[in-house]
Amino acid sequence: MEIDVVTIFPEMFDAIVKYGVISKAIKNNIISFNAHNLRNYTKDKHKVTDLYAYGGGPGMVMKPEPFFEFYDNYLEKKGKKPYVIMPSPQGKQFNSKDAERLASIENIVFFCGRYEGIDERVMSLVDEELSIGDFVVTGGELPSMLMIDAISRFIPGVVGDIESVKNDSFYNQLLDYPHFTKPRSYRGMDVPKVLLSGNHKKIEEYRKKESILRTILKRPDLFIKHDLDEFEKKVIVNIIRELILNEK
Ligand code: SAM
Repeated sequence: MEIDVVTIFPEMFDAIVKYGVISKAIKNNIISFNAHNLRNYTKDKHKVTDLYAYGGGPGMVMKPEPFFEFYDNYLEKKGKKPYVIMPSPQGKQFNSKDAERLASIENIVFFCGRYEGIDERVMSLVDEELSIGDFVVTGGELPSMLMIDAISRFIPGVVGDIESVKNDSFYNQLLDYPHFTKPRSYRGMDVPKVLLSGNHKKIEEYRKKESILRTILKRPDLFIKHDLDEFEKKVIVNIIRELILNEK
């Protein structure tokens, strides 16, 4: 997969290029990643990327020309159209399903805004406007990095075991179960006995039960949308059975 970002702060992307699993995926050529300095697509001496807004008001607006220049250059060099994502608080809220869907796209470009945002005419190049939540951050770099990280986890070979991605929160509209490692007992808190039992069927049941209970308690909105499979139904029957027995 090819990922390009257009930004006035390309160095910010060192956070994903230099550290962690995304950096490994780039080194192993699973992902081709490039952060492009928007200033390189300006044509004036001072490499201006933002100006005052027509109509007045506070804040600067990012000029349209450098984004169009980048786009034309991309088409010319690669001979194919990119799938352009505009991180924006006004977009659809990005979620796990979007990450999985976007992971199958061959070439994505993120346009990072700053200040009041990007000149509206750039929207004519944009395929999708995505938000990371109902709050405003100062630039599109962090939102792009969050989305790139989440998308990359669904690209085969990026995370060692794709099963672990499927067990993570939201994949199934359920939250993940709790995790423990050594020591067995720490400051009076013990690792649940079942995890030490070696009984894989019991461990699977315990984890599913915890996952269901956590989702009901922390995110009932997700649980309501989740279609229970036969195993989950059985686990719920056991939860209810335990509750009734404890009542007696
Ligand atoms: N004036 C814009 C508005 O109110 O819709 C906000 C501009 S914001 C200060 C600057 C840039 O940060 C945006 O162009 C976008 O790239 C990014 N940004 C801010 N909040 C975001 C969010 N919740 N999701 C995605 N991108 C966001």
